Amino acid sequence: MACPQSLTMASHIVGYPRMGPKRELKFALEAFWDGKSSTDELQKVAADLRCSIWKQMSSAGIKYIPSNTFSYYDQVLDTTAMLGAVPPRYGWNGGEIGFDIYFSMARGNATCPAMEMTKWFDTNYHYIVPELGPEVNFSYASHKAVNEYKEAKALGIDTIPVLIGPVTYLLLSKPAKGVDKTFNLLSLLDKILSVYKEVISELKTAGASSIQFDEPTLVLDLDSTKLQSFTKAYTHLESSVSGLNVLIQTYFADVPPEAFDVLTSLKGATGFGFDLVRGTKTLDLIKGAFPKGKYLFAGVVDGRNIWANDLAASLGTLNDLEGIVGKDKLVVSTSCSLMHTAVNLVNETKLDQEFKSWLAFAAQKVVEVNALAKALAGQKDEAFFSANAAAQASRKSSPRVTSQDVQKAAAALEGSDHRRATNVSARLDAQQKKLNLPILPTTTIGSFPQTIELRRVRREYKAKKISEEEYVKAIKEEINKVIKLQEELDIDVLVHGEPERNDMVEYFGEQLSGFAFTVNGWVQSYGSRCVKPPIIFGDVSRPKPMTVFWSSTAQSMTSRPMKGMLTGPVTILNWSFVRNDQPRFETCYQIALAIKDEVEDLEKAGINVIQIDEAALREGLPLRKSEQAFYLEWAVHSFRITNVGVQDTTQIHTHMCYSHFNDIIHSIIDMDADVITIENSRSDKKLLSVFREGVKYGAGIGPGVYDIHSPRIPSTEEIADRVEEMLTVLEKNILWVNPDCGLKTRKYPEVKPALSNMVAAAKVLRTKL
Ligand code: GLN
Ligand code: ZN
Repeated sequence: MACPQSLTMASHIVGYPRMGPKRELKFALEAFWDGKSSTDELQKVAADLRCSIWKQMSSAGIKYIPSNTFSYYDQVLDTTAMLGAVPPRYGWNGGEIGFDIYFSMARGNATCPAMEMTKWFDTNYHYIVPELGPEVNFSYASHKAVNEYKEAKALGIDTIPVLIGPVTYLLLSKPAKGVDKTFNLLSLLDKILSVYKEVISELKTAGASSIQFDEPTLVLDLDSTKLQSFTKAYTHLESSVSGLNVLIQTYFADVPPEAFDVLTSLKGATGFGFDLVRGTKTLDLIKGAFPKGKYLFAGVVDGRNIWANDLAASLGTLNDLEGIVGKDKLVVSTSCSLMHTAVNLVNETKLDQEFKSWLAFAAQKVVEVNALAKALAGQKDEAFFSANAAAQASRKSSPRVTSQDVQKAAAALEGSDHRRATNVSARLDAQQKKLNLPILPTTTIGSFPQTIELRRVRREYKAKKISEEEYVKAIKEEINKVIKLQEELDIDVLVHGEPERNDMVEYFGEQLSGFAFTVNGWVQSYGSRCVKPPIIFGDVSRPKPMTVFWSSTAQSMTSRPMKGMLTGPVTILNWSFVRNDQPRFETCYQIALAIKDEVEDLEKAGINVIQIDEAALREGLPLRKSEQAFYLEWAVHSFRITNVGVQDTTQIHTHMCYSHFNDIIHSIIDMDADVITIENSRSDKKLLSVFREGVKYGAGIGPGVYDIHSPRIPSTEEIADRVEEMLTVLEKNILWVNPDCGLKTRKYPEVKPALSNMVAAAKVLRTKL
């Protein structure tokens, strides 16, 4: 980093999306897994993608171009492969790890399931959790990092190889099966460092001059023992990395003050990378004390959103930082890897020019980083900066973005509280008079199987290949079929099956003002799976009812109660790209008001049970404990706003697709729903007892009685046992019987017998109670 060009081109990219601008890697992977293409074909697609990414960054002028941020599945799994930490059940016999072992760990094989997957910090990316213990024999078993470095070098591009840092790797691991749960994973540090040393030495031999260690766990609330592991690890590596420029990269939040001290004192490190988009307090720490002579990698370009950078503002920040660390020590960077944003704006054919000028996807962000670096070096591209300033101004003043009415209505909600007037037990009594449900009422979560035929109808209607009339007729027929089935099965509270929706957020986003949709704005979720989040760009309002027609049509087909089915504001927010010109809670309140209108219209149309799904409420939980209470408060408040206006006799359900909420149980209760259905596939009694004892929960609760994620059909006895077990913890008059999530991904031959057994189980138990 001491080389003279750094004065002119101090730019760096933390990491880049792998999938390709049109999800080329996804299709190549899936063809390979299906046996439709060869290893060579898959490797060729991957190499072409890497090549075009490196060339793009190189021709943009980026100085520190990352390598080894490509992955066939996941970067944590790549590290597991590098360390030879393959769980014994996959039958690896040593040697370089190939696709067979690698993909078995990722996806399972004929004899054993995949390794567990979990969320990467607070993103929607999921990584494969390493399974470690004292018995693991670490060895250098995947040369991917070195191979990628060499591959780029052969193309004439010198890259900075990226490795997941040793401490972060261990902190993200879990004790393997059979290993004591209290096993100290950090005790493996010395063992894995030996492998890291081999990798570093090979990278040096190959000609690398820099190396990046991603240590994002430094932004978490870590105790001092954990923090000391960083000191220990990098002291240990000091001699191996000597002669290299060593960047320790953090991202996703502020680095807490104690961690900042540890980080900036690490031996062998020559530069530190920070997320200055989510970490605004870090800026103060840097201003307070940044070690002399070290490089500051300033992550000012947001890797987690799709908005064009406010270049003038960023340049201001960078100028300040330059005053602190010195001109030759400042490197312009992204806040985190660009893998959390969409790939390339040029492929967006359906967005107008003005709107596109407000956006920057990964490819455009690379250009922004470089433009900022050049400006710092005194070579400001005036045309580029003024076009950017014009776009920022047009976004600020656009009538497409701002609606005074919506702003006012949402502002009025801040600092206020909204709760239904009557308490939940009294409401349930009033509802029961109207609904007259049996004990242990049965219901489902909303969607029914989505057949190929259904998808075709929706697609053709969207493409205007069939008329509205034909479309409505087809959807009505489907609803009727689903209702007849539920009546035959003798389910108590029915659903219409959601045949008109392809996605629970997109469906609402398309009907609300303030949302835009991309054609290719895909972001990797896990493996080959990608999601295409809507963009919330403006004040949100509901021009007209969204679901009332379908719900009331469905209600007219049956005398049983029909659940209205909505997606809640927090879930819509957390599964979208959110505007960055106002706090998230303001956007959430706006969505809440739009959903409130819908709830009230459903009620007026005679729908007495309304489910408002908050599948993603937990996903928005901030990484740092100190910020969680505030989030939970406005998120839960937003949910309550949606249904504060209904009568006592209208029953509000909510559904959440996970069961890890022992720690946020008070917030769940505070949502004040009448009935809550949750995933409970691990049959977690502790969770249920929290519901009962922790907080005298008087509302209805429907812990999923079987796992819809598997094609397996549960028997009546099995379900009955499960419900009986629940009854040992929960009162019989609050328990509901339902599957643990929507049935959309299942097939009718699985759904019919499973639901039939579920109803039979409820009936058997009713006779016993
Ligand atoms: N109502 C939705 C469905 O059944 C809920 C899906 C979800 O929670 N992910 O499909
Ligand atoms: Zn669910």
